[in-house]
Amino acid sequence: MTMESVRHSLRHSRPGWIAYRCAAGGRIRAERWALAARTAGRTPAKQGRILAYHSIGTPGWGVNDVTPRDFERHLQIAVDDGWSFATPAEVIAEPSKPQLALTFDDGAISVLTHAAPVLRHHGIPGTAFVVTGWADGQHPDGNELVLDWRGVRALREAGMSLASHSVTHPDFGRLEPGEARRELEVSREQMRRLLDAETDEFAIPLGQSGNWTQAAGRAAAEAGYTTVYAQSVNARPEGTVARTFITRIDRPMLFRAALAGAYDDWEEWFQPTGNFIHKPSSTLTRLSPGAFLQISRSAGGTCRLPR
Ligand SMILES: [Zn+2]
Repeated sequence: MTMESVRHSLRHSRPGWIAYRCAAGGRIRAERWALAARTAGRTPAKQGRILAYHSIGTPGWGVNDVTPRDFERHLQIAVDDGWSFATPAEVIAEPSKPQLALTFDDGAISVLTHAAPVLRHHGIPGTAFVVTGWADGQHPDGNELVLDWRGVRALREAGMSLASHSVTHPDFGRLEPGEARRELEVSREQMRRLLDAETDEFAIPLGQSGNWTQAAGRAAAEAGYTTVYAQSVNARPEGTVARTFITRIDRPMLFRAALAGAYDDWEEWFQPTGNFIHKPSSTLTRLSPGAFLQISRSAGGTCRLPR
């Protein structure tokens, strides 16, 4: 029985699925604590980073959600540690400068209510990657947590840049070429028509190494995108721009570890849709099961019910 078939069968049992998500969340916690512990005390030279956030105060989004309080702490830590804030294009243009760019995937309402005002207050640029079908009211779990087009426009009026994150948030690693092309072209066209905005930037849904193909990269270029962002650093697909994934688990020590590159070889193990992709680093394979459990407990996280 493959992991994929286990996951498939658990999806049809709510208790089974909750248990699975808890296990996945616990494993992410354990991995991030272990990697942070192994890099603690090291202060590598800073290099520009593009941070990938999702929601800021949407607890049901699990590890993808950062609380508003932790988000403000992250900004304070960055300033205290000598980083400045920039746009993704500025980070790409001068990668050795200690600059951070902030990006937010999926168009959560909480980005409008809890991130945009803080960024505006401090004059920090931000970029939101919008799933255009969700802005159209097609989120599979209902639309109460994601921005509609009016909300997306409000995000822009609050000073954030907007770019595409597809129409339906599929796993491009599994899409037929025609479907991939449609996702890329239609989302760009919708943004042009409904926001009167041209975007040449695209963030890959899920964003790990298995969620993109060379054919999708060609389709993105043909659709007019010049920059395609991953949600991983060293394990990202070829031809994409690295982003450092920031999670709910990243309280100050782990956030500093993320900025220091502790997770640059790491990929997210759990994915809501798509393949299981987990390439344990040599560091992680040396962890004993006991160490794993101990770290899980010390991280002390709670497991929330999926929406
Ligand atoms: Zn996404």
